[in-house]
Amino acid sequence: MDAAEFRHRGREMIDYMANYLENIEQRVVYPDLEPGYLRPLIPSEAPMEPETYDDIMKDVERVIMPGVVHWNSPYFNAYFPTGSSYPSMLADMLCGAIGCVGFTWAASPACTELETVMLDWLGKMLHLPECFLAGAGSHGGGVIQGTASEATLVTLLAARSKAIQQAKISYPEKSEGEILSKLMSYTSEQAHSSVERAALLGGVKIRKVPTDNYAVRKDMLKKMLVEDKAAGLIPFYFCATLGTTSSCAFDQIAELGPICNEENIWMHIDAAYAGSAFICPEFRPLLNGVEFADSFNFNPHKWLLVNFDCSTLWVKKRTDLTGAFNVDPLYLKHENQDSGLITDYRHWQIPLGRRFRSLKLWFVFRMYGVQGLQAHIRKQVMLAKEFESLVRADKRFEICAEVIMGLVCFRLKDSNELNQKLLKKITESRVIHLVPCQLSEKFVLRFAICSRATESHHIQSAWRHITQLTFELFQEPSQ
Ligand SMILES: *Cc1c(COP(=O)(O)O)cnc(C)c1O
Repeated sequence: MDAAEFRHRGREMIDYMANYLENIEQRVVYPDLEPGYLRPLIPSEAPMEPETYDDIMKDVERVIMPGVVHWNSPYFNAYFPTGSSYPSMLADMLCGAIGCVGFTWAASPACTELETVMLDWLGKMLHLPECFLAGAGSHGGGVIQGTASEATLVTLLAARSKAIQQAKISYPEKSEGEILSKLMSYTSEQAHSSVERAALLGGVKIRKVPTDNYAVRKDMLKKMLVEDKAAGLIPFYFCATLGTTSSCAFDQIAELGPICNEENIWMHIDAAYAGSAFICPEFRPLLNGVEFADSFNFNPHKWLLVNFDCSTLWVKKRTDLTGAFNVDPLYLKHENQDSGLITDYRHWQIPLGRRFRSLKLWFVFRMYGVQGLQAHIRKQVMLAKEFESLVRADKRFEICAEVIMGLVCFRLKDSNELNQKLLKKITESRVIHLVPCQLSEKFVLRFAICSRATESHHIQSAWRHITQLTFELFQEPSQ
């Protein structure tokens, strides 16, 4: 393919993408396939001779699309949203064209500098305290990670390194291995599985704090800390969640933060989904207490119209990260690195290489404006409230957790088995797509507002569909 063909095929591809998104409702949201469907559809080896572009695009419809779950469909109500918008997709294309690998400032100054400034813009949109903003002359700053899971792992490793250094001073007789075996991290029993995984990867123990209404409160953490310290353990890391994955519950960070500060425990905040909503003043109080945190992370690639991947992480003290993971081979050194004026993001993350992801933020912030992004969040919350009121109006159903953002947890007031049957019918009918969660031993259905194109009539027809399947369920002979 030469540049002339690229121009031509590029225009075609944009048309294909726009048509796909415009007409996505006509596709079955969740495919009906057996595992292994794809292998027989394509040759078992790569072609020796080049093929034509037309043949490839034909196979996109024949091979790929039948196996796609259409996350951008207004009938996709599973998990949490995946961010998507036209400006973000265009920025991603430009990122592909530039193709720089911005591990150091010198490796592509724009890649580093735009990222630092965009994290300040976004930090200001969230009204983060100045200690997290690089441009404020503070010790903090922001970085784009691939995912929230990586942000949790990176901060846990930084906290671990800091805790070991401090414990070596307090207990000079103990070996590093002994200290490591005493380190204890904490998170909510409702936290995302990636937090437990970060502890496994980091080789430290983790305890799950019980919750009240699915949120961690002060006393529950305090009790565990007293027990563990009495047992000779060293508490060093607490990961709070704002907007849990199961039910979108909010840990009481304003109560928990001071305890973590007193006990010298690193507090990380995982707000993967809900963080985007803090750009709206009416939701910002849920972030009060962030001033006690050592690090804060959320995913613009979930709810802020930015395509995957883009997970933004702020730290209060950037040397906590850069000090923990610093290695300096000659081929990565550059003459400006010790000037104190530049950021080498390779020290802030696990991989070396990194894409120019801040372009997506820049394009989206400028094309929507803060007001446009606020309007997007508010509309989706309103649609969730609409769904909630439909559920509440039907006496056979109950709402299982307070609806604060774009997620509604609901179930039939009946056995777990019957709710499982209802979800099975929903999944098999393939009209909408939901996933379940477990809350207080109960099997619960989660209805998340996901697509940017979701409107009230989608909510109404989703609910009509659910009640129709419920009617059928109650007609079945086993009932
Ligand atoms: C979605 C989610 C995650 C995982 O996000 P990734 O970016 O895929 O790692 C972590 N925590 C919470 C609360 C989430 O909702």
